[in-house]
Amino acid sequence: MKIDHDEKVNCIVCGAEVEYLKQAAKVECYYCGIEDEAYFCCVKGHYVCNNCHAQNALDVIKNVCLNTDSKDPFQIAEKLMEHPSIHMHGPEHHALIPAVLVAAYQNFVGLKINNDILESIKRGKNVPGGYCGLYGACGGGIGVGIAVSILLEASPLTPGPRSHANWATSKTLKDIADAGGARCCKKAVHIALEDGIDYLSNLFDIDWSREINKSVKCNYSKYNKECDSSCKYKKSFCGN
Ligand SMILES: [Zn+2]
Ligand SMILES: [Zn+2]
Repeated sequence: MKIDHDEKVNCIVCGAEVEYLKQAAKVECYYCGIEDEAYFCCVKGHYVCNNCHAQNALDVIKNVCLNTDSKDPFQIAEKLMEHPSIHMHGPEHHALIPAVLVAAYQNFVGLKINNDILESIKRGKNVPGGYCGLYGACGGGIGVGIAVSILLEASPLTPGPRSHANWATSKTLKDIADAGGARCCKKAVHIALEDGIDYLSNLFDIDWSREINKSVKCNYSKYNKECDSSCKYKKSFCGN
């Protein structure tokens, strides 16, 4: 549910009016899930914590990925992409992909390492916007390689892990190229998460991939001027 943000004072989740309460109520942040007590939420019940409300894209990715206990990368990514600081297109997606993959994977195996999530964001944000078309390597594909590199502690001097990081990137880049169309960061996120989940599940021989619903449809076609009419993630009915 991404809304047009013409109205700056209303709920940033749904655009409805924000109500102020006489007594603090127990609330949960829509984005990062942190439990809080607050004097306001929107008439539909959305509460957004101060961190998630004020932050820029990279801080939101950090806050949500550090706090979420979700094992589902699609669920985390969809929530992040709804946030107004994460644009239709932009290099924030290059950080989002490895952070979401590392956070969800570590939640699945039950070993969350905050520094790995911070490192994912640090590396992902170094990949500039437009890299797909200008350098021939979409930041979404590189994001999967970053996730694999971090989880395997790869470096230029570790033969096996270095190969895995490059295989993961190259498989994802091939799928992004095969999918065609003009650049679409939402499509790249979808492909990268699918490939990342599969790669990591095979690598670590876990059931993660089988437990994740990957048939998530895109909510962003209407925001994308260059939306590819044959995109397989596009919803089939009109108006989206
Ligand atoms: Zn709302
Ligand atoms: Zn929050």
